[in-house]
Amino acid sequence: MFEPVGSKTNFPQLEEKILVLWKNKNVFKRSVEARRDGRRFVLYEGPPTANGKPGIHHVLARVFKDIIPRYKTMKGYYAPRIAGWDTHGLPVELEVEKALGLTSKKDIEDFGIDNFNARCRESVFSYLKEWEAITERIAFWVDLEHAYVTMDSDYIETVWWAIKQMWDKGLVYQGYKVTPHCPRCGTSLSSHEVALGYQDDTEDPSVYIKFKIMPSPISDYDYDKPNKQKKLYEFARVKPTYLLAWTTTPWTLPGNTALAVDADAEYVVVNVGDENLILAAACLKAAGLSDALVIAKVKGSDLLDLRYEPLFNPHEFGVGRRRFQGSSELQLQKADKKLTYHVIATDFVSLDEGTGIVHMAPAYGEVDYEAGVENGLDFVHTVDLQGNILGTLPGHGKFVKDADKDIIADLESRGLLFRQEKIRHTYPFCWRCDTPLLYYAKQTWYIRTTAVKNELIARNDEINWYPEHIKHGRFGDWLQNNVDWAFSRERYWGTPLPVWQCESCGSYECVGGIKELEGKPGFSGFKEPLDLHRPFVDELTFNCPKCEAKMRRVPEVIDCWFDSGAMPIAQHHYPYENETLLEDGRFPADYISEAVDQTRGWFYSLHAIATLLFDRRCFSNVICLGLILDAKGEKMSKAKGNVVEPWAVINNYGADALRWYCLTATAPGNVRRFSEEAVAELSRRFLSTLCNVYSFFVTYANIDRFTPGGEGVSVELSELDRWIISELNQLIVDVDSGLDGYNPTEAGRRIEGFVADLSNWYVRRSRRRFWKSESDADKLAAYSTLYECLTTLCKLLAPFTPFLAEEMYQNLVCSVFTEAPDSVHLADFPVADEAKIDKQLGEDIRLAMKVSSLGRAARSQAGIKVRQPLAKALVKLQSGEEGEALKRVAAQILEEINVKGVEPVGGGVELDKPGYEVVSEGGYSVAIATEIPPELLAEGMAREVVRRLQTMRRSAGFDIADHIITYYQGEAYIGQVMADFTDYIKQETLSRELVDGVPEEGVFTESHKLSGYDIALGVKRL
Ligand SMILES: [Zn+2]
Ligand SMILES: [Zn+2]
Repeated sequence: MFEPVGSKTNFPQLEEKILVLWKNKNVFKRSVEARRDGRRFVLYEGPPTANGKPGIHHVLARVFKDIIPRYKTMKGYYAPRIAGWDTHGLPVELEVEKALGLTSKKDIEDFGIDNFNARCRESVFSYLKEWEAITERIAFWVDLEHAYVTMDSDYIETVWWAIKQMWDKGLVYQGYKVTPHCPRCGTSLSSHEVALGYQDDTEDPSVYIKFKIMPSPISDYDYDKPNKQKKLYEFARVKPTYLLAWTTTPWTLPGNTALAVDADAEYVVVNVGDENLILAAACLKAAGLSDALVIAKVKGSDLLDLRYEPLFNPHEFGVGRRRFQGSSELQLQKADKKLTYHVIATDFVSLDEGTGIVHMAPAYGEVDYEAGVENGLDFVHTVDLQGNILGTLPGHGKFVKDADKDIIADLESRGLLFRQEKIRHTYPFCWRCDTPLLYYAKQTWYIRTTAVKNELIARNDEINWYPEHIKHGRFGDWLQNNVDWAFSRERYWGTPLPVWQCESCGSYECVGGIKELEGKPGFSGFKEPLDLHRPFVDELTFNCPKCEAKMRRVPEVIDCWFDSGAMPIAQHHYPYENETLLEDGRFPADYISEAVDQTRGWFYSLHAIATLLFDRRCFSNVICLGLILDAKGEKMSKAKGNVVEPWAVINNYGADALRWYCLTATAPGNVRRFSEEAVAELSRRFLSTLCNVYSFFVTYANIDRFTPGGEGVSVELSELDRWIISELNQLIVDVDSGLDGYNPTEAGRRIEGFVADLSNWYVRRSRRRFWKSESDADKLAAYSTLYECLTTLCKLLAPFTPFLAEEMYQNLVCSVFTEAPDSVHLADFPVADEAKIDKQLGEDIRLAMKVSSLGRAARSQAGIKVRQPLAKALVKLQSGEEGEALKRVAAQILEEINVKGVEPVGGGVELDKPGYEVVSEGGYSVAIATEIPPELLAEGMAREVVRRLQTMRRSAGFDIADHIITYYQGEAYIGQVMADFTDYIKQETLSRELVDGVPEEGVFTESHKLSGYDIALGVKRL
C-alpha cells in the first residue's frame, strides 16, 4: 500500500517535511560522497554579500547554480559545491557609515579606522542567517559549513600573491589619470562599475559660453601666421570677438585651459549686435544663429594658437596652475596676470552638437587630459576630491552640481554667457550611492590588462556561453574594447594593496605573502593576532633595500571585484596550500551562472585574473541570466516599493513552484517580468497536473492492491501503453541532452509537455482500465505503465523540483523496494531504452490528438455537447501517409469526439458546407456533421443520465468502488432510453439494477430536466 495522496497538495507543507527527511538522512553530503570515484564536476559559487537580504534575483541565480550539479551528480560525477561570501568593499562601508551617521572620509578617520573596520567586520554577516535559511529552503545544495570568506587572512594572502605575480611581470602601475570618481564614496570606480550606473534622462544645464579673443596687436604674435588669422585679431580690435563653446558641465569651466577645433572644418565669424562670434559653419543652426550676418569664413586650422582670455584666471581665485612637461608630469606655474590660453586642434571635435569648438579641462576629462599631455597645456584643479569647488571661485565650498548655477550667473554678469538651456541625457552615477560621478584626474593603481588583450580574447573563445550571443556580443565587445583595470580604492575595508613605499627614496616593493613580509630586513610593527586589514597592516614597516630608510604601505585598498575574481585560488589558499589545484581538476570551473550584469563584474574579474596569472580560461560553461523586472516591466527597487520578497512566494506556492518558474518560464538569458501570479499559473499548469496523476495512480493502485513487480516481470502492453512508454523514453533522451547542453529551460518544457500528454491522453483514455472491477492483464499493464512513467518522472524532475520528486519517490519507490537508494537524489539519472521508442506510433497519436482537438473545437463552435454522439466527421490532412495513420487511430478519434465515423477527404473537397461545422488549423481541417438522427439523440440522453448519476454518487458520499441501485422516474421517452441503454448505464455507474420509480426514503435523489424532459433519479449504496 502507498501512502494515500489527497487531491489537493499543500506544497510548502510537503517541502518542509522533505527538508527534515534530507537533514535526517544527510542526503546532500551522501549524494556528493557516493560519487567520490567519479569524474569531478566543479561549480564556482559567485559569492554574494551577506550584509543585505537575499532578493528574488538571488534566488533565480541560485536555482540555476543548483540544477546542473544535481544533474551531474545523478550522472555519476563527483560534484562538491562550496559556498562563499564576499565581505569587502564599499557596500559594507556604506552600511556602517549610515548606521554610525558618518558622512565623509574625515568622519571615518576621526572615528578611527580600527573601530570603523571592526564595525564593518561585524556587519558583513548581518543577514547570514537569512541567506542560509533561504539557501536551504530553496534546496540550493552547497556546502555552507566550509564556505570561503574573502576577509580571511588565508584568502587575503592568496590575493596578495596574485598581485605580486602581476607586479613581477610589470603589469601593475601607478598612473595619474582621469578616472570616474565618486565624490561621496571618495574613490575611483572601475569601468565595469561605471557601466552599472548609467542613468538615462538626467537633466543638466546646456550652456554656450563666450571666450574672448585678446585684442592685442598682431605684431605681438606670430608673424608667420596666415593672413586670415591677422584678420581675426583685426576683428577683435574693432569689436569684442569671441570663440563660442558649449558644455553640459559648467562646473568644469574654471578648469578650462584650451579650446579645441577640427582643423579641416569650416568656421565662420558672425556679427551679432556689438560683437563677433566664431563657431563652426555646420553649427550655426543649432546655436540659433542661422540668421546672423556672416562676415568671414575660415578653416579650423586658421584658428590654431589663437589666444584667448581665461574665463577665470586661477591665480585670482586661489587655485594652483600646473603645466604638463612633455609627459604626464606636472609643474607648478607662477602667477600671471596676463595669462592667456590658446586654440588647439584635435580629432574628436564633433560637429553634430555644440559649436564645433570644444572646451578643454585637462583635470576633468579623459580626452582633455590626453590633449593636455600632448599639447603641454595648463592643468588646473578647481574641485576637491569631495566634489566641492575650491578657492574663491563662484560657488566655492559647494558641490559641483550645485555650483553650476553660481558659475553660470557669474559668467552671465560678465557678459560671457551666450545662451543657456536644459538638456536631458545619459550620465553616469555611482552604482552604490547614486552620486553623480566626476571624471577627475588623480593617481590610481592600474593592472595593465590591455597587455594581455589577445589572450583575454583567445581564452574567451574556449568558453561556452548560454545564451551564445553573449560570447562575442556583450562579453566579447567588452574584451575588444579593454581598458586597464583601475583597481585601487582610497578606502578602508578591503584587501590592502600589498605595496610598500620608501619614505626617503620613494621606491616601491610589492609583497606576495606573510612569510615574505616577516622576512624583510628591519620588519617591525607586528601585533598579535594577525589581521591583514587596515590599520594593522599600515603599522607594518621594513627597511628599503636601496637606501635602508623605512618603507610604509601605500594607503590604498583594492577593488573587491578583484577579491571575488580570485576565488578559484584564494578559497584554497593557493599556492601556500593545495599546490596541485591547477592540475587536479579543481580549476577551471566546469560551470558558473550569474546575471548578465556580471559580464563586466564577476565574469570579467574571474576571466581577467585567470588570464593574467595562468593564461587559462577560468570557467568552461556559463549560463548568463537576464535581469528580473517587476510585473509591469520596471526595475525592482526599494524606492519604488516593487521589490518581490522571495519568502512570500515560497510560503504561498512552495520552492518547487518558484524553481520551476525560474527554470522554465523564460529562456535564461531573457529579461523576465516577475509576478506571483506567473508562479501560481505555472504551478497550476504543471505541478498540480502532475500531482493529480500521482494522486489518481495511488488512489486506484491502493484500491486494487497493485504491487509493482520491478524489473523482469513481463506484462502485455496495449498500444496506448506502448505509446506512452515510447514517449517516456524519448523524454529521457531529450531531458538528458537538454541538461547536458546547459539548457534546463527546454528540458523542463519537454517534461511539462510529457506530463500534459500523460494526464490528458494516457490517463484519461486509460480511466476505464483502472475503473473496471476485474483485475486482468490489461489492468496490470495500465498500472505497470503508469508506475513506470511516474517513477521515471521522479528522477527526471529531481534536479528541477527536488521536493516533489522526493515525495513521489519515497512513496512510490522506497515504500516498495527496500534495496533502492533511500533518496531520489542518490539515484542514477534514467537511461533511455531506445528500442522502446516507436516514432511512427508517436506521430500517429500526435495526429489523433490534433484531429480530436479540432473536432472538439468544431463541436464547441456548433454548440453541441461532447456527450451527444454525432454521425460523422470529415478530416482534411496534409499527406497521403497521414491518411494511413488516420485509419490506424480512427477508433481513438471516434471516442474522443464522439462520432460514429471518421472519413479523410481529398484536398479539393469543400468542407464548409450546410450541415457541417468546420475548424482548421495548421493545414488540418475537421468538419463535424451537425444533424442528429433520433437514435443518436437517445444515446446522448443516456450519456446525460450517466453523467448525472456519477455526480450524484459523489454528492451522496459514495466511494469510487461502491456498487449501487439506481432509481428513475419520468416520461415514456425516458423509460424507453433507460431500457435501450440499460447495460451501458449499469456499467458506467456501477449499478446492479435500474428500477423504475423513485422511493421516498433511504435514497439520495435529484430531479433534472434533460433536453426538455423531466426526470427524477435516485441512488442507493448496496
Ligand atoms: Zn558613491
Ligand atoms: Zn629608499
